[in-house]
Amino acid sequence: MTEFYGEWQGSAKKLLDNNLVLVTFVSPPENIWTNEQKKENLEKIQKGINWIKNQALNYNQNVNLEIKTLGFDKDILLKDLKDGLYLGDNLTTIAKQIGFANFPHILSDYRMEYRGYNVVMIIAVNISNEQGGISNCTSHGDFEYGVLYPDVRNENRISEYTVAHELLHAYSAPDLYAYSESIEEIKAQENAIKHIKKDIMLCEVEGKDFEISEYTAFTIGWHNDPKDWYKDISPPSFLQSIDFMMKYSGYFDDGGILNLENATQGRGYSFEYGEVKEWFFGVNEENNYQNCPSLWTFEEDGEDEYIATVLMRENSIDNDYIFIKNSTYSLQIPLKDGKGKVLVNNTWQDWYDLSLQNMTLMVHYEKGFLKKYEILNEIIWYWEEDQNQLNGFFEQYNEMDNFLCIKNDIYKFKIPKIGGMAEMTFAEYKKEEWINWYNVTVSYF
Ligand SMILES: [Zn+2]
Repeated sequence: MTEFYGEWQGSAKKLLDNNLVLVTFVSPPENIWTNEQKKENLEKIQKGINWIKNQALNYNQNVNLEIKTLGFDKDILLKDLKDGLYLGDNLTTIAKQIGFANFPHILSDYRMEYRGYNVVMIIAVNISNEQGGISNCTSHGDFEYGVLYPDVRNENRISEYTVAHELLHAYSAPDLYAYSESIEEIKAQENAIKHIKKDIMLCEVEGKDFEISEYTAFTIGWHNDPKDWYKDISPPSFLQSIDFMMKYSGYFDDGGILNLENATQGRGYSFEYGEVKEWFFGVNEENNYQNCPSLWTFEEDGEDEYIATVLMRENSIDNDYIFIKNSTYSLQIPLKDGKGKVLVNNTWQDWYDLSLQNMTLMVHYEKGFLKKYEILNEIIWYWEEDQNQLNGFFEQYNEMDNFLCIKNDIYKFKIPKIGGMAEMTFAEYKKEEWINWYNVTVSYF
């Protein structure tokens, strides 16, 4: 089972280049890992990692995965662990016993030491589990980790394939087996069996002839050539993600970071510790800009040189704010400068003063662009249309809800502040009839 945080986010993005796998062993007081068991299971973890490395060669990827144990010589104990096992609040207890203030600190420390590495943690808990997957994989804030348990079906040993399966989750691969009896889930599972029946994300019981199929390889960043049938085998909960990944995989670099050279820059907000940036992608063959779902990156660069870059989706917009969120954060970004807000315990709280880095605003539409100039405090818009060689100056006359309004003697335009359908009317008409004009993409440079 997994709580999924896909799309190459978190501490483990695409499974490429250098990767640090932190391993710790945790026991209930009545069933402490012996040194022998720890060593044996560490070998299983190494085997699972080797298996992944070998699979990577099929996709011409040379992946470096380095293990580092944490508190290996200690007995790291957790009381009151029940079967079923969601570590949740226990993560702080584990972190303290290893010697860290809290769980996220483990990540920030190793990020500094291992610059440019993906970081993922494996927590091996000594409670045998009879359920199929025998593991959880989730993320705590930005920190992705998997939990492994001795597998009853595997002589109470940790299975190397479970190791691989859980690690792949951290790098964005979804489960491909149905969690429930829902028709959609069963259908997706059937399709997966049809297309890629040996895939490690379908099942992970020891002794099977597994592989990392081209589907799972795509979701972890090993190739960039998705097929249409990927949607048919994706579980319902992953459909939105796979759709996104298929459309935009080419815009992410090997580190899972948006490749800025291929994206058109949008708004930038600066705050005390970092910045929030909005991107529109210029997807085009003929140099036409399309208005794509906007994506925000939120980069925090704090006192401890803690750097987190997380992708957020635009969620909604009202008169004053754009709402963006991912699995960890919900933020309100003011349309102009002002106080940002963050959702904590279901309540919006003041976050930081945000200043909008707004130099020149460009509006692209199919035939040309509108450009905003600020001259002597006057905002003037310049309209240039490629083919008809039309150009002209406009003045801004009004601002309503989500639109900026500009006009000259002949035209009036309503330009959506964050892109979308623009509307126009003829200024000389007394009775205004707004008609759809063009889809526009708004960029701030
Ligand atoms: Zn799973």
